[in-house]
Amino acid sequence: MAQSEAEIQRQKEMQQAEELLFSGRQELGFAKGLFLGNFVADWVMPYPRLDPARQAELEGALAEVRQMLDRNLDPDWIDRNADIPQSLIDGLARTGVLGMTAPKEFGGRGFSQMQYCRILEEIGKRDASTSVFVNAHHSIGIRALLLFGTREQQAQWLPSLVAGEKLAAFALTEREAGSDAANVRMTATPNEDGSSYTLNGEKRYITNAAVSQVWTVMARTPIPGKAGKDAITAFLVTPDMPGVEMIEGRMPKLGIRGTATGRFRLNDVRVPKENILGPLGKGLRVALTVLDFGRTTFGACCTGAAKHCLQLAIEHANSRQQFKKTLGNFDLVKKKIARMAADIYAMEAMTNVTASLIDRGLEDYMIETAMLKVFTT
Ligand SMILES: Cc1cc2nc3c(=O)[nH]c(=O)nc-3n(C[C@H](O)[C@H](O)[C@H](O)COP(=O)(O)OP(=O)(O)OC[C@H]3O[C@@H](n4cnc5c(N)ncnc54)[C@H](O)[C@@H]3O)c2cc1C
Repeated sequence: MAQSEAEIQRQKEMQQAEELLFSGRQELGFAKGLFLGNFVADWVMPYPRLDPARQAELEGALAEVRQMLDRNLDPDWIDRNADIPQSLIDGLARTGVLGMTAPKEFGGRGFSQMQYCRILEEIGKRDASTSVFVNAHHSIGIRALLLFGTREQQAQWLPSLVAGEKLAAFALTEREAGSDAANVRMTATPNEDGSSYTLNGEKRYITNAAVSQVWTVMARTPIPGKAGKDAITAFLVTPDMPGVEMIEGRMPKLGIRGTATGRFRLNDVRVPKENILGPLGKGLRVALTVLDFGRTTFGACCTGAAKHCLQLAIEHANSRQQFKKTLGNFDLVKKKIARMAADIYAMEAMTNVTASLIDRGLEDYMIETAMLKVFTT
C-alpha cells in the first residue's frame, strides 16, 4: 500500500532526529528537562560568574579591543560604503578577536564562551555589521573545526584562521533549505577511488562567502550500506577549488550593510575526503551544534546593541525639551525607559546563563540557544 504524505514526512523527521545523535542517548538539557518536570538547579544556579583570573584576563582583552575599536571602527562609514575596511579586520586579528575561543596551541586565547560573549557585546554596542562579520568567522565559520575537527585538521587549518590571515564562512542555507535546515539539496558524491567527493549545488545568504578563504559546507552524501538513503555531511571547501562559482558576492541588504552576504554555486567541485568534518552523515548535528554557538554570541551582540540604544534614549530623554520639560519628566517616557532596562537585564542574564551551559560542558543547550535567539534578536 502506498504511504501517505504524512507518513513519509514522519519517517523523514525520524531519520533527521537520528542524524542529530552521534551515538547513544544524550543527557537532556536544562530547558528540555523543564518540559519533563525536571528542574536541575545546579545547571543554572548560582548565577554564573567568571573566576577572578578569567575576569582579569577579560578586562585586559576588553581594554585592548575598546582602544582598537575607538581607533578603527567607524559604523557610519561601514554602513554608507557597505564594506568592512581591512584596517578594522587587521585590528580585530591583532587583538585576538578572530580566534578568541580557539586553543592557545593554535594561536587562540582559549577564552570561555562567557568571556567571548562579553567581547562580542562590546562590538555589538558599536556596530552590527562588525559583530555579524566576527560571528560568521569565529562563532560559526571556524566552529565546526574547533568542535569536530581532527587534530590533523585543526593543525592544518586553524592557525591561519585564528590569526586572521584567512577568514571563514559557514554555508548551510540554500533556496530550499532555510528554516528547514535539514532539506539541503547540495550533493557530495563519492568518487570511485574513494579519495574524494564531487560537490554540486548552490548556497545563498552566506555571510563572508566572498571575503573568506575557508568554508564549512553542508552537502548530502549517500549512507554507506543503505541503498537509496542519504544524509548531510560537513566539508571544508576553499573558494580556489576548480568549479567554485561566486554568483553574487554582496547581495544587497537594508541593514547590517557592511557584511558580504554571498550566493555561490559548486559545479563538480572535487573535495578530498580528508576535508570531511565530523562523522560522515552527521552534518546536520554538526550544523545545528555550530548554530547553537552562533545564537549564543549573537545574543551577546544584540545585548550590546540594546544597551547602546538605552544609553542614547536616556541622553535624549534628559536633553530634549517639550512643554517646558525634558522628555524624561513624563511618566510615559519613564515607563518606556524602565521597560527597556528590564528587557536588557533579561537579555544579559539569558546570554550569560546560556554561555555558561556551554562552558560547564553540558551536552544539550539547543532549546536555550533558540530561546535566546527569539528573545534577544
Ligand atoms: C543577513 C543574513 C546573513 C545570513 N548568514 C548566513 C550564513 O552565514 N550561513 C548560512 O548558512 N545562512 C545564513 N543566513 C540564512 C539564514 O540562516 C536563513 O535566512 C534562515 O535560516 C531563514 O531561512 P529563509 O530566509 O529561507 O526563510 P524561510 O525559512 O523561508 O522562512 C520565512 C518565514 O517563515 C517562517 N517559518 C518558516 N518555517 C516555519 C514554521 N515551521 N512555523 C512557523 N513559521 C515558519 C520563518 O520564521 C520566517 O519568518 C543568513 C541570512 C541573513 C538574512
